[in-house]
Amino acid sequence: MKLILLGAPGAGKGTQADIVAAKLGIPTISTGNILREAIRNGSEVGLRAKAFMDKGQLVPDDVVIGIVRDRVARADCANGFILDGVPRTIPQAEALEDAGVSFDHVVSIEIDDAVIEQRMTGRRVCSGCGASYHITAHPPRKDGVCDHCGGELTTRADDAPETVRSRLQVFHRETEALKDFYGRLGKLSLVEGDRPIEEISKAILTAIGA
Ligand code: AMP
Repeated sequence: MKLILLGAPGAGKGTQADIVAAKLGIPTISTGNILREAIRNGSEVGLRAKAFMDKGQLVPDDVVIGIVRDRVARADCANGFILDGVPRTIPQAEALEDAGVSFDHVVSIEIDDAVIEQRMTGRRVCSGCGASYHITAHPPRKDGVCDHCGGELTTRADDAPETVRSRLQVFHRETEALKDFYGRLGKLSLVEGDRPIEEISKAILTAIGA
């Protein structure tokens, strides 16, 4: 199963990717998580990406495509993977096709900007493994601590309200067109994202026939 999760920032891609990946026994590839780790490690990629991420802009396509190509070539992706947060532009989608990375399903999690802006203030992410939480909709078992790895939960700098608005603009300008791109290939399903997490997971699993 090779699956792309599309959706605005804050639509719940990370949360759903974790649930569906665990259910199907395949890894999630989140370019956002990989880039944040690169920044923490002070690597060359991280240094290049940070200025874009801080402003809520997209990191250049070549950086992101390089990350995905390397990651899907690893052994744990042999039975499939879920892409979370990539592709984000038509050129990225084309570059993945050119690199021979193909997909079985693309699911778009649909949600209004106003709901997202409200949600983002409650989002927390694990500084260790990148797992996503929300203080009311998806709280950790112990306050401030990741259920999976025990890492510290933090607020993302780019979840500040102004940066969220820029990221939503970037989504509508650059990323939303991917729905047409994959729709034309007959691979797209739409799933309503403003409802309980378990219902969304069920809808995604139904959409992909799992
Ligand atoms: P995310 O965790 O998916 O919300 O991504 C956080 C930030 O990382 C984005 O606002 C971008 O700056 C950068 N980023 C993540 N994935 C991509 C991508 N596929 N293309 C370009 N930039 C990305």
